[in-house]
Amino acid sequence: MEFDGVKEKTLVLIKPDAIQRGLIGEITGRFERKGLKLVGLKMMGLDDEILKQHYSHLADKPFFAGLAKFMKSSPVVAMCLEGLEVVQAVRLLCGITKARTAEAGSIRGDLAMSVSCNVVHASDSVENAKLEVSRFFDEKELHGYTKSEYEHVYAEDEM
Ligand code: UDP
Ligand code: MG
Repeated sequence: MEFDGVKEKTLVLIKPDAIQRGLIGEITGRFERKGLKLVGLKMMGLDDEILKQHYSHLADKPFFAGLAKFMKSSPVVAMCLEGLEVVQAVRLLCGITKARTAEAGSIRGDLAMSVSCNVVHASDSVENAKLEVSRFFDEKELHGYTKSEYEHVYAEDEM
């Protein structure tokens, strides 16, 4: 029986630059090796409507049009990951926005050089993660299941 803490969810998008560069497996593998549970996964094309919602905090920025064009340049891979304090854990795995100065060892720090083409999106707060997961996934696309490795990923009192 899992407690609600390990059921925190976050949204990750593997962006078009990573799709073009053949990094889907590399990026997904890092989340898997961390011990996170993949509960939703799909490839999808984004349109202006979803991008306006997803990047509403950037709508007034001069780079918004270029960002939207980039995000529509190929499909993205959307994933929903679950785990204890997973929103924070995934942000740390991804590294800061400006990839060329992101910490070595992070996904952006190891795999990218650009501010815009920075290979991944990750939700930045628990509140936003809830909104973003429901924006990109229908309820029936999210899968609850038992992950046998959890007994080695978490201590008993953490799950
Ligand atoms: N972005 C950009 N130019 C900027 C800032 C952001 O192209 O000066 C893009 C970049 O792809 C970034 C995304 O907009 O990942 C969302 O920006 P945010 O500040 O939310 O950064 P993130 O949460 O992705 O680190
Ligand atoms: Mg953001």
